[in-house]
Amino acid sequence: MTERNLIKLLAMGPLLFIPAIVAIICFSVITSEKNDLTETLSRMEQDQTETLKSNIRSKVDNISDLVAYRKSVIKQELHSRIQQRVEDAYQIASRLRARYALTKSAQEIKELIIEALRPLVWNNGESFIWILDFEGVFYLAPEYLRHLEGQSIIDFREATGREIIKEEIKLVQTEGEGFLWSTFTKPHENSEQQYPQLAFIKKFGFYDWYLGSGEYLDTATQKTDSRLLAAIDKLGSDGSDYFFIMNRQGTLLINQSRPDIVGINITRVESPELKVIFNKILDEVNNREAGFTARFVEYEWLNPAANKYELKKTYVTAVPGSDWIIGSGFHPADVSRQLQPKKTQVALLSGLKLDNLWKTAGWSFAFSVLISFLLSLAIFKLLHRFRKKVLDKNTELKQLNMQLEEKVLERTLDLEVVNQELHVLAKTDSLTGIHNRYSFMKILEIEMKRVKRFKEGFSLIMFDIDFFKRVNDEYGHGVGDSVLIELVTIIDEHFREVDLFCRFGGEEFIVLLPNSSLKMAGEMAERLRLTVAEHVFASVGRVTISLGVAECRVDRDIDELLKSVDIALYKAKDAGRNRVCFADIEK
Ligand code: GH3
Ligand code: MG
Ligand code: MG
Repeated sequence: MTERNLIKLLAMGPLLFIPAIVAIICFSVITSEKNDLTETLSRMEQDQTETLKSNIRSKVDNISDLVAYRKSVIKQELHSRIQQRVEDAYQIASRLRARYALTKSAQEIKELIIEALRPLVWNNGESFIWILDFEGVFYLAPEYLRHLEGQSIIDFREATGREIIKEEIKLVQTEGEGFLWSTFTKPHENSEQQYPQLAFIKKFGFYDWYLGSGEYLDTATQKTDSRLLAAIDKLGSDGSDYFFIMNRQGTLLINQSRPDIVGINITRVESPELKVIFNKILDEVNNREAGFTARFVEYEWLNPAANKYELKKTYVTAVPGSDWIIGSGFHPADVSRQLQPKKTQVALLSGLKLDNLWKTAGWSFAFSVLISFLLSLAIFKLLHRFRKKVLDKNTELKQLNMQLEEKVLERTLDLEVVNQELHVLAKTDSLTGIHNRYSFMKILEIEMKRVKRFKEGFSLIMFDIDFFKRVNDEYGHGVGDSVLIELVTIIDEHFREVDLFCRFGGEEFIVLLPNSSLKMAGEMAERLRLTVAEHVFASVGRVTISLGVAECRVDRDIDELLKSVDIALYKAKDAGRNRVCFADIEK
């Protein structure tokens, strides 16, 4: 990837990311708003349903409480009514016994009492006065049990199997009197239907007798139930507050929505659906009595609002201490229908809100695209400028580098020149410009090696200015120096290219003549001596030199060679100066 593409990619960052983030935020806000709407609508329906359910529950429970209260009043009335009957019979019997106690036999009095009480019957013969003794012998029996008079019925069991006569005897013997609930099948009914009966029994005090009377609860309640039902029926007569009452046998006592089936026992109607509903209601009532939480019974029922069968939820409760079941319910579909206008309104408002949200989201997105485009552009320009700056700096650096390199090169060259100069200086005598002693020694070493290798000899001439001290003394050192320079100049012309002319030290010089024999060197020495001797020096006039000559041979080393030429020179000095002498060995 090139740098330019990388910059483009980096600059594209905001353009890609900012709108994406804005889009995601907008999308999640709208989605959550939509979910809120769905939730609101379903909560509205739920709340409405719950309110309705709670209203129904309290309504049914209230009616149930009312009925229970009225029923308890009925029971209280029943108690006092029965007790009153027995008390009345007891008074009659007591008075008869008192009146005839002295005049009639016990048997006669007993018969008088029995016959006096026999006509006391109520409710079409269902309620009567009975007399038994502590052995269970029936003295006064109802019409339909007349045949049992004089017999003991002590082992008689009531409908639930209790030995009720024994219980009665025990009660009167211990308490004297009291109430007892028992259960019987009615004598004139063929069905096995059992009816609770309340009895009041009272010890007579004579003949081991006790008197009793009873009344069936349903008979007692029937009298008042019609009044109670009529009163309750008014509660829901406006239709909106509908409820029904039925008994556990399945007879509908109140049903404001279906007056056509009131009074009918739905278990006897040829309708399997009704039986199923009835069983569901009974199950719920039984569950409640077994301690389960209340539930709404569900079944299909004709909904007059829709004129069709729809799901119905009904709350039922059994009135305590009675066989009445009170219920009321509702069609969930009605809740939806009732809420429909409100729902539509909410949906409409939400729709408007969503529209606004979409618009805002659209604008936000467009705005974010614009902003991020500008941002991207700015970043691109910035990066581009930065890159250009870097490139410029780079070029500048390169140029600087090149300049630096040039300078280094220049300095290197300068150094080389200086080096060369130094090199030359190292080998050259500064006063005369000819080779110095150091240079001579180096070359001499090389020449010695050449001699040994190629067997080619060379010769040396060493010379020294005569009485030079006097020159210095007489003319000064500066003049002495000019003499040295002048001497070198006039001598130097005589040498070949290959000859090496050196200042050996002070005013002492040495000449190396390659491929020159001792003889050739001697001739050269003589020429030099003459040149100097015949030259008139500018400042001092005549000057002479003394010269020693030696030849280099294979078997010699440098020290020996130098020594021998030096000896030759001193020989020349000793012999009177201004002459050439040869080294001893060469002779
Ligand atoms: P001779 O050689 O004949 O025996 O006598 P001389 O007087 O030349 O004696 P010597 O060679 O011993 O003395 C050399 C003198 O040369 C000593 C010194 O003052 C002088 N001298 C040496 N080098 C230089 C130089 O570079 N410049 C000058 N002006 N004088 C020098
Ligand atoms: Mg000297
Ligand atoms: Mg000298």
